[in-house]
Amino acid sequence: MPTSSTNSPVTTVKTTCPYCGVGCGVIATVDAAKRTVEVAGDPDHPANLGRLCSKGSALAQTVGIEGRLTHPSINGQRVDWDTITSRIADKLQHILQQHGPDAIQLYVSGQLLTEDYYVANKFMKGFIGSNNIDSNSRLCMSSAVAGYKRAFGSDTVPVTYTDLEDCDLLVMVGANLSWCHPVLFQRIKAAQLRDHKKIVVIDPRVTDSCSIANLHLPIKGGTDTVLCNGLLRYLAVHGFAQPAFLTHVAGLAPSLAAAEPFTVEKVASDCAIGVDLVLAFFELFANTPKVVTAFSMGVNQSSTGTDKVNSIINCHLLTGRIGQVGMGPFSITGQPNAMGGREVGALSNLLAAHFDLTQATHRQHVAEFWQVPANTISAQVGLTATEVPQALVNGSIKAIWIMATNPAVSLPNASLMQLGLSMCDTVIVSDCIADTQTTRSANYLLPAQGWSEKDGTVTNSERVISRQRKFFPAHQQAMPDWWIICQVAQKMGFAGFDYTCPADIFKEHAALSNYHNNGSRNFSLGAMAALSAEYYGNMAPVKLPIAADGVRNTQPRFFAHGRGDDPTAKLHMLAIIPQPPVSQHSTQYPLTLNTGRLRDQWHTMTRTGLSARLNQHMPEPLLHIHPQDATLYKLVDGQFATVASALGQVVLKVKCDANMRQGDVFTPIHWSINAKQANVGTLIAPNIDAVSKQPELKFTAVNITPLSMQMHGFILLKGFANSNDTHSANADYWVLNRGANYTVIHLAWAALQPRQQLQQALAAAGLHSHNSMVYHDANQSVYRLATFAAPGTDGAGLLTAVAFFAPIGQPLPELSWLGSLFSSTSLSAQDRKCVLIGKPAEGYVDVGRTICSCFTVGENTIVNAIKTHNLSNAWQIGACLKAGTNCGSCVPELNSILKRCMPTGTV
Ligand code: SF4
Repeated sequence: MPTSSTNSPVTTVKTTCPYCGVGCGVIATVDAAKRTVEVAGDPDHPANLGRLCSKGSALAQTVGIEGRLTHPSINGQRVDWDTITSRIADKLQHILQQHGPDAIQLYVSGQLLTEDYYVANKFMKGFIGSNNIDSNSRLCMSSAVAGYKRAFGSDTVPVTYTDLEDCDLLVMVGANLSWCHPVLFQRIKAAQLRDHKKIVVIDPRVTDSCSIANLHLPIKGGTDTVLCNGLLRYLAVHGFAQPAFLTHVAGLAPSLAAAEPFTVEKVASDCAIGVDLVLAFFELFANTPKVVTAFSMGVNQSSTGTDKVNSIINCHLLTGRIGQVGMGPFSITGQPNAMGGREVGALSNLLAAHFDLTQATHRQHVAEFWQVPANTISAQVGLTATEVPQALVNGSIKAIWIMATNPAVSLPNASLMQLGLSMCDTVIVSDCIADTQTTRSANYLLPAQGWSEKDGTVTNSERVISRQRKFFPAHQQAMPDWWIICQVAQKMGFAGFDYTCPADIFKEHAALSNYHNNGSRNFSLGAMAALSAEYYGNMAPVKLPIAADGVRNTQPRFFAHGRGDDPTAKLHMLAIIPQPPVSQHSTQYPLTLNTGRLRDQWHTMTRTGLSARLNQHMPEPLLHIHPQDATLYKLVDGQFATVASALGQVVLKVKCDANMRQGDVFTPIHWSINAKQANVGTLIAPNIDAVSKQPELKFTAVNITPLSMQMHGFILLKGFANSNDTHSANADYWVLNRGANYTVIHLAWAALQPRQQLQQALAAAGLHSHNSMVYHDANQSVYRLATFAAPGTDGAGLLTAVAFFAPIGQPLPELSWLGSLFSSTSLSAQDRKCVLIGKPAEGYVDVGRTICSCFTVGENTIVNAIKTHNLSNAWQIGACLKAGTNCGSCVPELNSILKRCMPTGTV
């Protein structure tokens, strides 16, 4: 809530971080006149209790206006809101009449607020009359939804964040919380130090989350169900089943029968880990009643993701470890409002407010509530996100409306999605960013408000609803997503879209959750169905459910005594028959590609890519490979390689990494727009889980081959360039990145470039030889250029660009000093002389790659401090350099640097 006088130029506003599903509370201190903000963690928010991770801490750097979509347009022609919403309404109405409701598709996003999501779902399912609305959350956690529904009869999260702290054993499966949910990780770590809980990490890679693990099981990719079946069998055979709890459970016998073959030895063999390790895990799980199994994308993003989820839940149901303090299976969601989307039913197989799409009476209740004919809501499950590209290509979708997401790069087989968009006549895109691969395909471009400008609610992984509040005015003509949808809906003649504010929508959403709900659905916001605008404005974070009868308001957990919503119904164990990943190795594709997030980036970098601080941690996308595999494939650290699957190829720099399993490679998902050829979505086949339709993003058979580059270099440009500045660079590799007040373009060529081609790269970046200094050694193929603002212009004499090109093998200068010159208000004669050397005459200290993003502390600085001051733990590094003392996300990396620096390995 706003907490200071509006007379003051500076106000504080409580809002919520827009990145991951932890859902941290943020206090924004806003200077409206300067359009600047400082952010801090909200100490009163139950998710983070004042903490923020590196991404959350850098939010202030991502609310600038450059790159924003500013006005509506149709086929590139600027129009006003009335025109574009009328034209879209006419177009959709025409398609509806000519081709029927299923010719229209909405592709929405976990970045939307619940109010946007609710209206989009109502528009599509209640009025267009098709269930063709799906969210990018399909790629993130639809297997968890499907697994929960199969086991519990509803998409109900049974546990809370405090259970992660209160358990005695935490098992993290396919979840690198240290990087992907850092604030939760910090909470877990603090609880471990306090209560000596045991932690097990199950992941093919040694991730940073392993830094606090007592046990790490580096299982072969795709073998989670083997491990869980083995655990289930072990628990049953050794007498850990809970007969009293099992009276609430169906499916015990077939589940145990399916698990019977999975002896400890078979599990060890199939998972490719030691028998001792398997046994140690099974014994620990068996003998620790208070156990939480936290899982995330490593489980969900699989062609057998739903089975993986149920194989985990089976172990909890067998032992009755659910619904009590410190117990239960816990899906940690990836996006800020994936849970809100589940609540409003914005997946093509869900109905709003946890009504069941497959039940006629439920469809009827929702239709009644929305005041539409009973048969308007279709019984037919709509197209999922993963089915959209093919439907676009075969022409069954005539119009698609994409909101707040970039599926042209984020979907598997991204090339097919790009083709499909190019073949579709009516592509409507609502976004706050002007230039994404998806906006490039749009006929109708709708500028949406971004974080900091829009009002609404989000729900995090543990069912806590928080307010997201605006604190800046909307940029130019940007409007809230809900408003845009309502304009189109009203112009199509649909009633019930005359909301005046998000509170109106939230109340309706809450009322629907209460409709025909006397405890039959766990999801309820009934107590909030009549809230006032003032209450909504000041609303503090609140945990679901909050039913109108008040009875269920105090229920923080579910299923301690079976199905509370329906005592006659059972919880379900599922018989799981492990299946291998769809993508199969062959002599042509012998390696497994695993993908994931980095600590300091988010999705396709359209926001985190704006922060100079966040870009320093991993400036380029790397291909992580075990050193022995690197030798086998004739690769060395820093070399370029082509990674090819049956669908496509990317070009990446190699990082030899002993934390990888042999036979696996890993690369991050983030580089698409900001690199020439690093979009991993082009490699991944749309192999989907039969139940959840979630794609297998963690297992793709690939091959790697060394790519011989002859020349490399970089161009630094004052200010912020975008990828358009690099497309004509004629380079075989480029990656674009931001520093403080400058842009860096890393480049490489397969041939030694004659000067003319280098000039082409420079021209693509807008560089020329006026007011420049050039160093060119033709014999050595070395070329350097620095340009300066012309006399009589703004910043006359200051550096505007610098470029260094050299043969591969010749080192390039570190960027920190050169980059710092772009923030200087004056350039000394000495500095000017040194620009083409790449370092100052004296006193230059290369700080190295950024490790601590919060305080911009580099690796070399940390190594020097360790050696100089004989530091032996991360706390001492923090006391010396502040590194790791804000969000703590870099502490695992500090520990690994300490390990490297201390031959005795005493850390
Ligand atoms: Fe945001 Fe980080 Fe909290 Fe996630 S953990 S919500 S990214 S501050």
